[in-house]
Amino acid sequence: MALTAFEVAQRQFDEAAEAMGLDPAMREVLRVPQRELIVNFPVRMDNGTVRVFTGFRVQHNITRGPAKGGLRYHPAVNLDEVKALAMWMSWKTALMGIPFGGAKGGVVCDPHSLSQLELEHLTRRFATEISLLVGSHSDIPAPDLGTNAQTMAWFMDTVSMHQGYSMPAVITGKPISVGGSQGRAEATGRGVATVTLKALSQLGVDPSDATVAVQGFGNVGSISALLLERAGCRIVGISDVHGACWNPAGFNVASVLDHIHTSGSVLGYPGAAEISNEDLLTGDATVLVPAALEGQITPEVAERMRCRLVVEGANGPTTPDADTVLRDRGIMLVPDILANAGGVVVSYFEWVQDLQAFFWEEADINRRLETLMRRAYDTIQGVAEARGITLRQSAYSLAVDKVARATLVRGIYP
Ligand code: NAD
Repeated sequence: MALTAFEVAQRQFDEAAEAMGLDPAMREVLRVPQRELIVNFPVRMDNGTVRVFTGFRVQHNITRGPAKGGLRYHPAVNLDEVKALAMWMSWKTALMGIPFGGAKGGVVCDPHSLSQLELEHLTRRFATEISLLVGSHSDIPAPDLGTNAQTMAWFMDTVSMHQGYSMPAVITGKPISVGGSQGRAEATGRGVATVTLKALSQLGVDPSDATVAVQGFGNVGSISALLLERAGCRIVGISDVHGACWNPAGFNVASVLDHIHTSGSVLGYPGAAEISNEDLLTGDATVLVPAALEGQITPEVAERMRCRLVVEGANGPTTPDADTVLRDRGIMLVPDILANAGGVVVSYFEWVQDLQAFFWEEADINRRLETLMRRAYDTIQGVAEARGITLRQSAYSLAVDKVARATLVRGIYP
Protein backbone atom coordinates (compact mmCIF):
# COMPACT_ATOMS: atom_id res chain seq x y z
CA MET A 1 0.00 0.00 0.00
CA ALA A 2 1.22 3.51 -0.80
CA LEU A 3 2.74 5.42 2.10
CA THR A 4 0.86 8.45 3.41
CA ALA A 5 2.56 11.86 3.14
CA PHE A 6 3.54 11.77 6.82
CA GLU A 7 4.87 8.21 6.51
CA VAL A 8 7.00 9.47 3.61
CA ALA A 9 8.25 12.42 5.70
CA GLN A 10 9.05 10.09 8.62
CA ARG A 11 10.82 7.60 6.37
CA GLN A 12 12.98 10.38 4.90
CA PHE A 13 13.77 11.57 8.43
CA ASP A 14 14.50 8.01 9.68
CA GLU A 15 16.90 7.42 6.80
CA ALA A 16 18.72 10.69 7.53
CA ALA A 17 18.78 9.95 11.29
CA GLU A 18 20.17 6.47 10.64
CA ALA A 19 22.87 7.75 8.28
CA MET A 20 23.88 10.45 10.78
CA GLY A 21 23.81 8.13 13.78
CA LEU A 22 21.37 10.51 15.49
CA ASP A 23 20.83 9.89 19.20
CA PRO A 24 17.70 7.66 19.69
CA ALA A 25 16.04 10.13 22.11
CA MET A 26 16.51 12.96 19.62
CA ARG A 27 14.96 10.77 16.93
CA GLU A 28 11.89 10.26 19.09
CA VAL A 29 11.56 14.03 19.60
CA LEU A 30 12.03 15.06 15.97
CA ARG A 31 9.98 12.40 14.20
CA VAL A 32 6.64 13.74 15.53
CA PRO A 33 5.08 17.23 15.50
CA GLN A 34 5.07 19.24 18.71
CA ARG A 35 1.49 20.57 18.33
CA GLU A 36 -1.55 19.55 16.25
CA LEU A 37 -4.72 21.63 16.26
CA ILE A 38 -7.94 20.49 14.52
CA VAL A 39 -10.79 22.98 14.18
CA ASN A 40 -14.37 22.52 12.90
CA PHE A 41 -16.14 25.78 12.21
CA PRO A 42 -19.34 27.03 10.57
CA VAL A 43 -19.45 29.39 7.59
CA ARG A 44 -22.58 31.05 6.26
CA MET A 45 -22.77 30.47 2.51
CA ASP A 46 -24.10 32.94 -0.07
CA ASN A 47 -27.43 31.09 -0.31
CA GLY A 48 -28.02 31.45 3.45
CA THR A 49 -27.17 27.87 4.41
CA VAL A 50 -24.46 27.02 6.95
CA ARG A 51 -21.58 24.64 6.15
CA VAL A 52 -19.11 23.27 8.68
CA PHE A 53 -15.48 23.17 7.49
CA THR A 54 -12.51 21.36 9.04
CA GLY A 55 -9.10 23.00 9.31
CA PHE A 56 -5.70 22.21 10.78
CA ARG A 57 -2.61 23.95 12.10
CA VAL A 58 0.39 21.83 12.97
CA GLN A 59 3.68 23.02 14.46
CA HIS A 60 6.39 20.43 13.96
CA ASN A 61 9.31 22.12 15.70
CA ILE A 62 9.83 25.62 17.09
CA THR A 63 13.27 25.24 18.62
CA ARG A 64 15.01 27.58 16.16
CA GLY A 65 12.35 30.30 16.08
CA PRO A 66 8.66 30.98 15.43
CA ALA A 67 6.70 28.35 13.52
CA LYS A 68 6.53 29.10 9.79
CA GLY A 69 4.53 27.45 7.03
CA GLY A 70 1.75 27.93 4.51
CA LEU A 71 -2.01 27.49 4.55
CA ARG A 72 -3.44 25.07 1.99
CA TYR A 73 -7.05 25.12 0.74
CA HIS A 74 -7.74 21.86 -1.10
CA PRO A 75 -10.41 19.13 -0.94
CA ALA A 76 -7.77 16.48 -0.07
CA VAL A 77 -6.21 18.34 2.88
CA ASN A 78 -5.99 16.10 5.96
CA LEU A 79 -4.08 15.98 9.24
CA ASP A 80 -1.55 13.46 7.96
CA GLU A 81 -0.64 15.67 4.99
CA VAL A 82 -0.39 18.80 7.14
CA LYS A 83 1.92 16.97 9.59
CA ALA A 84 4.21 15.97 6.71
CA LEU A 85 4.26 19.49 5.29
CA ALA A 86 5.01 20.92 8.76
CA MET A 87 7.96 18.57 9.23
CA TRP A 88 9.35 19.48 5.79
CA MET A 89 9.14 23.16 6.79
CA SER A 90 11.35 22.52 9.86
CA TRP A 91 14.05 21.02 7.64
CA LYS A 92 13.67 23.73 4.99
CA THR A 93 14.07 26.67 7.36
CA ALA A 94 17.04 24.98 9.07
CA LEU A 95 18.67 24.15 5.74
CA MET A 96 18.38 27.74 4.58
CA GLY A 97 19.67 29.03 7.92
CA ILE A 98 16.64 31.20 8.65
CA PRO A 99 15.47 31.52 12.26
CA PHE A 100 12.10 29.76 12.02
CA GLY A 101 10.63 26.44 12.99
CA GLY A 102 8.27 24.39 10.83
CA ALA A 103 4.48 24.50 10.61
CA LYS A 104 1.66 24.05 8.12
CA GLY A 105 -2.08 24.52 8.02
CA GLY A 106 -5.03 23.98 5.78
CA VAL A 107 -8.75 23.79 5.32
CA VAL A 108 -10.61 20.94 3.62
CA CYS A 109 -12.41 22.82 0.84
CA ASP A 110 -12.44 23.39 -2.89
CA PRO A 111 -11.59 27.10 -3.16
CA HIS A 112 -12.65 27.17 -6.82
CA SER A 113 -16.23 26.22 -5.92
CA LEU A 114 -16.55 29.00 -3.31
CA SER A 115 -17.42 32.65 -4.03
CA GLN A 116 -15.01 35.42 -2.95
CA LEU A 117 -17.37 36.29 -0.08
CA GLU A 118 -17.55 32.67 1.09
CA LEU A 119 -13.74 32.40 0.89
CA GLU A 120 -13.40 35.59 2.92
CA HIS A 121 -15.81 34.33 5.60
CA LEU A 122 -14.06 30.95 5.70
CA THR A 123 -10.62 32.58 6.00
CA ARG A 124 -11.67 35.02 8.73
CA ARG A 125 -13.28 32.29 10.82
CA PHE A 126 -10.34 29.91 10.28
CA ALA A 127 -7.91 32.70 11.30
CA THR A 128 -9.94 33.20 14.48
CA GLU A 129 -10.01 29.47 15.25
CA ILE A 130 -6.23 29.01 14.89
CA SER A 131 -5.37 32.33 16.56
CA LEU A 132 -4.66 30.19 19.64
CA LEU A 133 -1.34 29.42 17.96
CA VAL A 134 -0.75 32.21 15.45
CA GLY A 135 1.20 35.41 16.21
CA SER A 136 4.07 37.59 14.92
CA HIS A 137 6.50 35.89 17.32
CA SER A 138 4.88 32.48 17.65
CA ASP A 139 3.51 31.17 14.35
CA ILE A 140 3.48 32.98 11.00
CA PRO A 141 1.44 31.46 8.12
CA ALA A 142 1.93 32.10 4.38
CA PRO A 143 0.27 31.11 1.08
CA ASP A 144 0.31 27.57 -0.28
CA LEU A 145 -1.79 25.57 -2.72
CA GLY A 146 -5.20 27.22 -3.17
CA THR A 147 -4.42 30.39 -1.19
CA ASN A 148 -2.93 33.70 -2.35
CA ALA A 149 -2.10 37.28 -1.33
CA GLN A 150 -5.82 38.12 -0.91
CA THR A 151 -6.27 35.20 1.51
CA MET A 152 -3.28 36.50 3.50
CA ALA A 153 -4.78 40.03 3.59
CA TRP A 154 -8.08 38.73 5.09
CA PHE A 155 -6.11 36.68 7.61
CA MET A 156 -3.94 39.64 8.62
CA ASP A 157 -6.97 41.93 8.88
CA THR A 158 -8.83 39.46 11.11
CA VAL A 159 -5.93 39.05 13.56
CA SER A 160 -5.39 42.84 13.50
CA MET A 161 -9.08 43.49 14.29
CA HIS A 162 -8.82 41.24 17.35
CA GLN A 163 -5.74 43.17 18.53
CA GLY A 164 -7.11 46.62 17.72
CA TYR A 165 -4.10 47.60 15.63
CA SER A 166 -2.35 46.44 12.44
CA MET A 167 -0.19 43.35 12.82
CA PRO A 168 1.44 42.87 9.41
CA ALA A 169 4.15 40.50 10.74
CA VAL A 170 1.55 37.87 11.67
CA ILE A 171 1.48 36.46 8.13
CA THR A 172 3.62 36.67 4.99
CA GLY A 173 2.77 36.65 1.30
CA LYS A 174 0.50 39.67 1.82
CA PRO A 175 -0.22 42.31 -0.82
CA ILE A 176 2.47 45.04 -0.90
CA SER A 177 -0.14 47.62 0.18
CA VAL A 178 -0.48 46.01 3.64
CA GLY A 179 3.16 45.22 4.37
CA GLY A 180 3.92 42.52 1.83
CA SER A 181 7.39 42.25 0.34
CA GLN A 182 8.53 43.05 -3.15
CA GLY A 183 9.45 39.82 -4.88
CA ARG A 184 7.48 37.51 -2.53
CA ALA A 185 4.94 36.38 -5.13
CA GLU A 186 7.74 35.27 -7.48
CA ALA A 187 10.12 34.04 -4.76
CA THR A 188 9.46 30.30 -4.85
CA GLY A 189 9.62 30.17 -8.65
CA ARG A 190 12.75 32.34 -8.63
CA GLY A 191 14.40 29.93 -6.21
CA VAL A 192 13.36 26.95 -8.37
CA ALA A 193 14.79 28.63 -11.47
CA THR A 194 18.03 29.55 -9.66
CA VAL A 195 18.76 26.00 -8.50
CA THR A 196 17.67 24.53 -11.86
CA LEU A 197 20.30 26.67 -13.60
CA LYS A 198 22.91 25.62 -11.02
CA ALA A 199 22.09 21.94 -11.57
CA LEU A 200 22.09 22.30 -15.37
CA SER A 201 25.51 23.90 -15.17
CA GLN A 202 26.71 20.98 -13.03
CA LEU A 203 25.37 18.58 -15.68
CA GLY A 204 27.21 20.59 -18.34
CA VAL A 205 23.97 21.56 -20.12
CA ASP A 206 23.62 25.08 -21.47
CA PRO A 207 20.14 26.54 -20.71
CA SER A 208 19.60 27.12 -24.43
CA ASP A 209 19.94 23.36 -24.97
CA ALA A 210 17.56 22.48 -22.13
CA THR A 211 13.86 21.63 -22.47
CA VAL A 212 11.57 21.76 -19.43
CA ALA A 213 8.25 20.13 -18.45
CA VAL A 214 6.31 21.69 -15.56
CA GLN A 215 3.52 19.91 -13.66
CA GLY A 216 1.13 22.46 -12.14
CA PHE A 217 0.93 25.99 -13.46
CA GLY A 218 0.02 27.99 -10.36
CA ASN A 219 2.28 30.33 -8.44
CA VAL A 220 5.32 28.03 -8.32
CA GLY A 221 5.01 26.31 -11.71
CA SER A 222 4.23 29.37 -13.81
CA ILE A 223 6.94 31.61 -12.32
CA SER A 224 9.53 28.82 -12.57
CA ALA A 225 8.58 28.39 -16.24
CA LEU A 226 8.68 32.13 -16.90
CA LEU A 227 12.13 32.59 -15.37
CA LEU A 228 13.59 29.46 -16.98
CA GLU A 229 12.24 30.61 -20.35
CA ARG A 230 13.88 33.98 -19.71
CA ALA A 231 17.19 32.16 -18.99
CA GLY A 232 16.98 30.50 -22.42
CA CYS A 233 15.30 27.15 -21.69
CA ARG A 234 12.45 25.86 -23.87
CA ILE A 235 9.25 25.03 -21.94
CA VAL A 236 7.80 22.02 -23.77
CA GLY A 237 5.28 20.57 -21.29
CA ILE A 238 2.79 22.22 -18.94
CA SER A 239 -0.18 21.04 -16.91
CA ASP A 240 -2.80 21.91 -14.34
CA VAL A 241 -5.58 20.11 -12.49
CA HIS A 242 -7.59 19.91 -15.74
CA GLY A 243 -4.91 18.22 -17.88
CA ALA A 244 -1.56 18.53 -19.63
CA CYS A 245 -0.23 19.84 -22.97
CA TRP A 246 2.97 19.30 -24.92
CA ASN A 247 4.59 21.48 -27.56
CA PRO A 248 8.10 20.45 -28.71
CA ALA A 249 8.60 23.88 -30.30
CA GLY A 250 8.19 25.49 -26.87
CA PHE A 251 5.39 27.47 -25.19
CA ASN A 252 5.41 31.24 -24.86
CA VAL A 253 4.83 31.37 -21.09
CA ALA A 254 3.40 34.91 -20.95
CA SER A 255 0.83 34.00 -23.59
CA VAL A 256 -0.02 30.74 -21.74
CA LEU A 257 -0.72 32.88 -18.66
CA ASP A 258 -3.03 35.11 -20.76
CA HIS A 259 -4.75 31.95 -22.03
CA ILE A 260 -5.24 30.68 -18.45
CA HIS A 261 -6.57 34.09 -17.46
CA THR A 262 -9.31 33.94 -20.08
CA SER A 263 -10.06 30.19 -20.23
CA GLY A 264 -9.21 29.05 -16.67
CA SER A 265 -6.86 26.26 -17.79
CA VAL A 266 -3.72 25.42 -19.78
CA LEU A 267 -5.91 23.15 -21.94
CA GLY A 268 -6.89 24.44 -25.36
CA TYR A 269 -3.68 26.45 -25.82
CA PRO A 270 -3.23 26.82 -29.60
CA GLY A 271 -0.70 24.51 -31.27
CA ALA A 272 -0.22 22.19 -28.27
CA ALA A 273 -1.09 18.48 -28.09
CA GLU A 274 -3.19 17.36 -25.11
CA ILE A 275 -1.51 14.52 -23.21
CA SER A 276 -2.07 12.62 -19.96
CA ASN A 277 -0.55 13.65 -16.63
CA GLU A 278 1.70 10.57 -16.72
CA ASP A 279 2.91 11.42 -20.23
CA LEU A 280 3.86 14.87 -18.97
CA LEU A 281 5.94 13.38 -16.14
CA THR A 282 7.64 10.89 -18.46
CA GLY A 283 7.96 13.20 -21.49
CA ASP A 284 11.15 13.82 -23.40
CA ALA A 285 12.48 16.94 -21.64
CA THR A 286 15.83 17.69 -20.00
CA VAL A 287 14.22 18.94 -16.79
CA LEU A 288 11.00 18.02 -14.97
CA VAL A 289 9.64 20.50 -12.43
CA PRO A 290 6.78 18.91 -10.44
CA ALA A 291 4.96 21.93 -8.98
CA ALA A 292 1.54 20.59 -7.96
CA LEU A 293 1.00 17.93 -5.28
CA GLU A 294 2.71 15.20 -3.24
CA GLY A 295 3.25 11.63 -4.39
CA GLN A 296 3.23 12.29 -8.14
CA ILE A 297 6.49 10.49 -8.99
CA THR A 298 5.94 6.85 -8.05
CA PRO A 299 8.44 4.04 -8.78
CA GLU A 300 6.43 3.11 -11.90
CA VAL A 301 6.60 6.70 -13.19
CA ALA A 302 10.28 6.98 -12.21
CA GLU A 303 11.12 3.86 -14.26
CA ARG A 304 9.69 5.52 -17.37
CA MET A 305 11.00 9.06 -16.88
CA ARG A 306 13.26 10.42 -19.60
CA CYS A 307 14.52 13.67 -18.05
CA ARG A 308 18.06 14.17 -16.73
CA LEU A 309 17.06 16.40 -13.85
CA VAL A 310 14.07 16.67 -11.46
CA VAL A 311 13.67 19.92 -9.51
CA GLU A 312 11.00 19.56 -6.82
CA GLY A 313 8.97 22.77 -6.94
CA ALA A 314 6.18 21.04 -5.01
CA ASN A 315 6.58 19.61 -1.53
CA GLY A 316 7.02 15.83 -1.46
CA PRO A 317 6.28 15.07 -5.13
CA THR A 318 8.58 12.00 -5.16
CA THR A 319 7.92 8.86 -3.09
CA PRO A 320 10.94 7.31 -1.28
CA ASP A 321 10.88 4.23 -3.55
CA ALA A 322 10.78 6.46 -6.63
CA ASP A 323 13.75 8.34 -5.18
CA THR A 324 15.72 5.09 -5.17
CA VAL A 325 14.73 4.37 -8.79
CA LEU A 326 15.84 7.85 -9.88
CA ARG A 327 19.15 7.47 -8.04
CA ASP A 328 19.78 4.05 -9.61
CA ARG A 329 18.92 5.43 -13.05
CA GLY A 330 21.34 8.35 -12.58
CA ILE A 331 18.61 11.00 -12.79
CA MET A 332 19.68 13.98 -10.68
CA LEU A 333 17.12 15.37 -8.23
CA VAL A 334 17.14 18.73 -6.41
CA PRO A 335 15.03 18.06 -3.29
CA ASP A 336 12.03 20.14 -2.27
CA ILE A 337 13.55 21.42 0.97
CA LEU A 338 16.14 23.21 -1.16
CA ALA A 339 14.37 23.70 -4.51
CA ASN A 340 11.23 25.45 -3.24
CA ALA A 341 12.81 27.24 -0.26
CA GLY A 342 12.75 30.61 -2.07
CA GLY A 343 9.23 31.25 -0.78
CA VAL A 344 10.11 30.89 2.88
CA VAL A 345 13.34 32.84 2.42
CA VAL A 346 11.48 35.89 1.08
CA SER A 347 8.75 35.30 3.69
CA TYR A 348 11.54 35.74 6.23
CA PHE A 349 12.61 38.96 4.49
CA GLU A 350 8.97 40.12 4.58
CA TRP A 351 8.67 39.37 8.31
CA VAL A 352 11.91 41.25 9.05
CA GLN A 353 10.70 44.24 7.00
CA ASP A 354 7.32 44.22 8.81
CA LEU A 355 8.94 44.08 12.25
CA GLN A 356 11.28 46.95 11.35
CA ALA A 357 8.63 48.84 9.34
CA PHE A 358 11.39 49.44 6.82
CA PHE A 359 11.01 48.12 3.28
CA TRP A 360 13.65 46.97 0.81
CA GLU A 361 14.00 47.40 -2.96
CA GLU A 362 12.96 44.47 -5.15
CA ALA A 363 16.40 44.19 -6.77
CA ASP A 364 17.93 43.91 -3.31
CA ILE A 365 15.50 41.14 -2.32
CA ASN A 366 16.03 39.13 -5.51
CA ARG A 367 19.80 39.44 -5.20
CA ARG A 368 19.80 38.30 -1.56
CA LEU A 369 17.45 35.41 -2.40
CA GLU A 370 19.54 34.22 -5.34
CA THR A 371 22.73 34.46 -3.26
CA LEU A 372 21.18 32.35 -0.47
CA MET A 373 19.84 29.75 -2.93
CA ARG A 374 23.19 29.41 -4.75
CA ARG A 375 25.09 29.19 -1.47
CA ALA A 376 22.74 26.51 -0.11
CA TYR A 377 23.03 24.58 -3.38
CA ASP A 378 26.84 24.68 -3.25
CA THR A 379 26.94 23.56 0.39
CA ILE A 380 24.54 20.66 -0.22
CA GLN A 381 26.26 19.67 -3.43
CA GLY A 382 29.68 19.79 -1.74
CA VAL A 383 28.54 17.46 1.07
CA ALA A 384 26.82 15.13 -1.43
CA GLU A 385 29.98 14.87 -3.50
CA ALA A 386 32.31 14.42 -0.53
CA ARG A 387 30.17 11.64 0.98
CA GLY A 388 28.97 10.03 -2.24
CA ILE A 389 25.29 10.60 -1.34
CA THR A 390 22.32 12.17 -3.15
CA LEU A 391 21.39 15.84 -2.86
CA ARG A 392 18.33 14.83 -0.81
CA GLN A 393 20.40 12.79 1.63
CA SER A 394 22.89 15.64 1.91
CA ALA A 395 20.18 18.30 2.43
CA TYR A 396 18.43 16.16 5.07
CA SER A 397 21.62 15.44 7.00
CA LEU A 398 22.52 19.15 7.10
CA ALA A 399 19.01 20.25 8.08
CA VAL A 400 18.30 17.58 10.70
CA ASP A 401 21.72 18.20 12.23
CA LYS A 402 20.92 21.92 12.68
CA VAL A 403 17.55 21.25 14.34
CA ALA A 404 19.02 18.49 16.52
CA ARG A 405 21.91 20.70 17.70
CA ALA A 406 19.52 23.54 18.58
CA THR A 407 17.24 21.12 20.45
CA LEU A 408 20.17 19.62 22.34
CA VAL A 409 21.69 22.93 23.39
CA ARG A 410 18.32 24.27 24.64
CA GLY A 411 17.76 21.10 26.67
CA ILE A 412 14.49 19.55 27.83
CA TYR A 413 12.12 21.76 29.83
CA PRO A 414 11.51 21.61 32.80
P1 NAD B 1 -1.24 27.06 -6.69
O1 NAD B 1 -2.55 26.78 -6.09
O2 NAD B 1 -0.85 28.44 -7.07
O3 NAD B 1 -1.06 26.15 -8.03
C1 NAD B 1 -1.21 24.76 -8.02
C2 NAD B 1 -1.22 24.27 -9.46
O4 NAD B 1 -1.26 22.84 -9.46
C3 NAD B 1 -2.45 24.73 -10.26
O5 NAD B 1 -2.07 24.97 -11.60
C4 NAD B 1 -3.36 23.51 -10.18
O6 NAD B 1 -4.29 23.47 -11.27
C5 NAD B 1 -2.34 22.41 -10.28
N1 NAD B 1 -2.81 21.11 -9.82
C6 NAD B 1 -3.57 20.82 -8.72
N2 NAD B 1 -3.80 19.51 -8.68
C7 NAD B 1 -3.16 18.96 -9.75
C8 NAD B 1 -3.05 17.65 -10.26
N3 NAD B 1 -3.64 16.62 -9.64
N4 NAD B 1 -2.31 17.45 -11.39
C9 NAD B 1 -1.72 18.49 -12.02
N5 NAD B 1 -1.81 19.76 -11.59
C10 NAD B 1 -2.53 19.98 -10.47
O7 NAD B 1 -0.17 26.40 -5.67
P2 NAD B 1 1.37 26.76 -5.50
O8 NAD B 1 1.49 27.80 -4.44
O9 NAD B 1 1.98 26.96 -6.85
O10 NAD B 1 1.91 25.40 -4.86
C11 NAD B 1 2.29 24.28 -5.66
C12 NAD B 1 3.21 23.36 -4.84
O11 NAD B 1 4.36 24.13 -4.44
C13 NAD B 1 2.63 22.80 -3.56
O12 NAD B 1 3.19 21.52 -3.33
C14 NAD B 1 3.13 23.74 -2.48
O13 NAD B 1 3.18 23.14 -1.21
C15 NAD B 1 4.51 24.04 -3.03
N6 NAD B 1 5.10 25.28 -2.52
C16 NAD B 1 4.50 26.49 -2.69
C17 NAD B 1 5.13 27.64 -2.21
C18 NAD B 1 4.55 29.01 -2.44
O14 NAD B 1 5.24 29.99 -2.07
N7 NAD B 1 3.40 29.17 -3.04
C19 NAD B 1 6.35 27.53 -1.53
C20 NAD B 1 6.95 26.28 -1.40
C21 NAD B 1 6.32 25.15 -1.89
